[in-house]
Amino acid sequence: MSTPDTWNAVDRYLADTLVDEDAPLALARDSSGDTTGGHIEVTPNQGALLAMLARMIGARRILEFGTLAGYSTIWLARATGDDGHVDTLELEEGNAAIARTNFKRAGVFDRVDVHVAPAADTAAELVERGVEPYDFVFIDADKPNNALYLAAAMELTHAGSVIVIDNVVRNGGVVDEDSSDPNVRGTRAALEAAAADPRLSATALQTVGSKGWDGFAILLRVA
Ligand code: SAM
Repeated sequence: MSTPDTWNAVDRYLADTLVDEDAPLALARDSSGDTTGGHIEVTPNQGALLAMLARMIGARRILEFGTLAGYSTIWLARATGDDGHVDTLELEEGNAAIARTNFKRAGVFDRVDVHVAPAADTAAELVERGVEPYDFVFIDADKPNNALYLAAAMELTHAGSVIVIDNVVRNGGVVDEDSSDPNVRGTRAALEAAAADPRLSATALQTVGSKGWDGFAILLRVA
């Protein structure tokens, strides 16, 4: 029977069977509970998926919107290899401090920069500085700004880059075109911007699991 309990059990089974979450990753995931957001990090199988997508395209430079305790960041940083680099954007200094401890324990501290400021400001600064483009972008910060983050990601990537947007289903709320929920509105705005941009090939998947009913969009820059 399909219930949140069975989704949870299946997530646990899949993660236990397939996902290699070592002690530093498990500790990072636990420490999300000490952040301002609580346990809103990706699940182990989602972290492994992000890392796999990054590896599939040989990503060396990764940009992340929304660090929390750095759980997804560690998955992504490890996927870049020793010469890779991750810029991760976080509003809260307390969360960034927790994440830095986790990066040290996971052996990726030297390849990750946590930028503490509103992500829109940091992204604008990266555009202004003309930084080397990113191969992979993970958008997982405040959802009302998703369209803005996607626009910034388009300034900061190249043909062949992959952009993943998390939490695009929102318990089904995404289908409500009249929603007053700013998270739904922000998500819909980003999906519609992706659909309208001829430089992007896009799809999205809905998921159930230990984080309920949600999903992610995967966008490939084709130009
Ligand atoms: N990617 C993380 C993971 O899976 O381990 C989870 C990120 S959590 C869903 C979202 C994070 O975005 C929180 O840490 C929150 O403090 C941060 N955030 C919220 N608004 C922000 C903003 N305007 N600029 C930067 N970060 C923001």
